[in-house]
Amino acid sequence: MLSPIRIVSKAAEFAAHRHTGERRKARPDEPYINHLAEVANILAEVTDGADAELVAAGWLHDTVEDELATRAELVSEFGDRIAALVDEVTDDMSLPQAKRRQKQVEDAPHKSPGAKLIKIADKISNVRARIHSDPTAEQRNELAAYTIWAEQVVAGCRGGNAALDRMFDDTVKLARSRP
Ligand code: ZN
Repeated sequence: MLSPIRIVSKAAEFAAHRHTGERRKARPDEPYINHLAEVANILAEVTDGADAELVAAGWLHDTVEDELATRAELVSEFGDRIAALVDEVTDDMSLPQAKRRQKQVEDAPHKSPGAKLIKIADKISNVRARIHSDPTAEQRNELAAYTIWAEQVVAGCRGGNAALDRMFDDTVKLARSRP
């Protein structure tokens, strides 16, 4: 078993390496790793660093969905719990987007406590990424639609961490206060 700092550091390095060259869809000016760093750091902050495996899973949460790693690989590199957490937040990309979004809403209440925290942190990061200083009409609509869906997913995930719930609510408030 690696020490907490080593497991987080290893996950960050693994994610950085696997996501090399990717950019954020909602913010093409930013490398994808900014999203992973944000999610991992939100998880570290709201749990005050108490759960290194959760933070490591935050770094890794998109690797399987994006087909950059397999679950078996995560098990052998990081152990069963981290691999299971990532697996729980991995969408089935063979489904069309509308179906995937619906499934996230339906499945959210049945996730483990750790997976629920990752989901909320992910939605915070993704709503924030859609808040632009001078949005086009399309960006405004995208933010509004994404925020409504994120609220539906998060409704099934809340209650595990008050600071995280508050951070999500503040993010939604900020999104809705934009012109
Ligand atoms: Zn993500």
